[in-house]
Amino acid sequence: RLRGCVGSDTCRLSPEGLLGLITEIFVRAGVPAGPARILARTCVHAERDGAHSHGLHRMPAYLATLATDWVTPGARPRVQESASGTVLVDANNGFAQPALAQAMPLLTRKASEAGVAVMLMKNSHHFGALWLDVEPLAEQGFVALTMVNSSSHMAPVGGTKPVYGTNPMAFACPRDGRPPIVFDQATSVMAKGDIQLAAKSGRPVPPGTGLDKFGKPTEDPAEILDGGTLLPFGGHKGSSIAMMVEILAAALTGGNFSWEIDKSGYTNAHTSRAGQFLLCIDPRLSGENAFAQRIEALARTLMESGQSRLPGDRRHANRKRAEDEGIAVNPALLLSWYDAPRP
Ligand code: NDP
Repeated sequence: RLRGCVGSDTCRLSPEGLLGLITEIFVRAGVPAGPARILARTCVHAERDGAHSHGLHRMPAYLATLATDWVTPGARPRVQESASGTVLVDANNGFAQPALAQAMPLLTRKASEAGVAVMLMKNSHHFGALWLDVEPLAEQGFVALTMVNSSSHMAPVGGTKPVYGTNPMAFACPRDGRPPIVFDQATSVMAKGDIQLAAKSGRPVPPGTGLDKFGKPTEDPAEILDGGTLLPFGGHKGSSIAMMVEILAAALTGGNFSWEIDKSGYTNAHTSRAGQFLLCIDPRLSGENAFAQRIEALARTLMESGQSRLPGDRRHANRKRAEDEGIAVNPALLLSWYDAPRP
């Protein structure tokens, strides 16, 4: 796939071509073929859509983690029917996305029958962008909301030490004849991946993003990463949303709270053994509410009021560009991942 590129700084691969290559890299790192393709899709689709903090940037951390015993790459998830509207998933210390793929048919069947269904997952490692978990549901006509907690990197409001993960949530809503509305955001001012990218390029971060290890505000991303802490967006409001994510993704699922994730003994492990909550609603069962027209009226009003775009629009524009022009990659980097020591 890289023939003709070796020796140059950049080359362009089609999303499908890059997906094949990244799948092979995961397989060489010890992930069975099925989960390898799902993980590769997580990275490549994020890169394709310009969600760089969770695209190829994550590969070294995935590979370093896979070289430890921290995560079980071939874990067999256990998917259980609970109450009529509940699907329980134990990812058995595997990655969240393959476990979700296994739970999805049951979840959507329950949501179609009852109008609403919830998935509660524990013992799962989620290291990717969350919109990937809900966008396909909206493409099938469901409204979906998901949340994951992750290792402690963020202080609560008023605190100076990390307690919460950067605890993101993603929401997706179908539209008639158009791509779904999707928003996906960390509860920290900036996602940790963006802090790492800023540190790598020596760029300062905006005031209010984080504290250093002494609890002092800093705009230096390296100081935040070196024993400091991120801060929640919107002060007490973001802090309460992060708390809600701990309640739904950890307390309710039986997964670890962010501060309970103990990677000692796994120096190079980066993923978080945590939990995930996913609510799936079938708007077709909400009565005579003309949901699709109501969403169009909402979207129209937002644009008429001056909002320049809806969340998700930037990604869809990037996706189109990547499909037309390919995704820019560094061949030397890809080859180094291909040749990374196997576990
Ligand atoms: P951003 O702040 O980049 O974006 C948040 C949302 O706002 C996106 O849906 C984005 O849509 C939308 N948006 C941005 N600008 C505008 C605008 N002008 N008008 C309308 N909508 C807008 O996200 P974060 O940095 O907070 O999070 C980045 C990623 O990190 C997420 O994918 C998240 O899932 C991931 N993450 C994963 C974790 C894990 O443990 N797995 C932990 C923490 C974060 P658009 O995409 O179209 O720009």
